Amino acid sequence: MIKLSKIQLDQIIYEATTSYPSECCGLLVGNTSDHLHIINNIVPSTNILRSRGNDCFEIDPQDRINLERNLRGTTDNVIGHFHSHPNCSNTPSKIDLEMAYEPQMIWLIVSVIEGKFHDFSTYRLDKAKQQYIELNCEIIN
Ligand SMILES: [Zn+2]
Repeated sequence: MIKLSKIQLDQIIYEATTSYPSECCGLLVGNTSDHLHIINNIVPSTNILRSRGNDCFEIDPQDRINLERNLRGTTDNVIGHFHSHPNCSNTPSKIDLEMAYEPQMIWLIVSVIEGKFHDFSTYRLDKAKQQYIELNCEIIN
């Protein structure tokens, strides 16, 4: 189970729609205990593959390094990331499964159709099995 506030979801939707027709991406900051993942902050990142097309993303590694440095000494960690699928469903793509190097990461994928927010889902991706499971996400106020 993932808990995400309405404000954070709106922030992700804003990133996804303003980056359209490119993919947006960013990091999810929060903490995990047992099977509960609480997201406390959304950190938009530079998509370093943006110029390669509208169907791929890679979070700028420097953005993540800087963020992890800032989180040192706090109870928060990088627990996942988000990206958008312009004119595509929110299902993880083949490229996403290929890129799923960190099995503990939460993937939040936003579908943007013709520039407008469509829907989103949260997943865990298993690169070895080339499978994904959908995680429940609760929006809190
Ligand atoms: Zn994707």
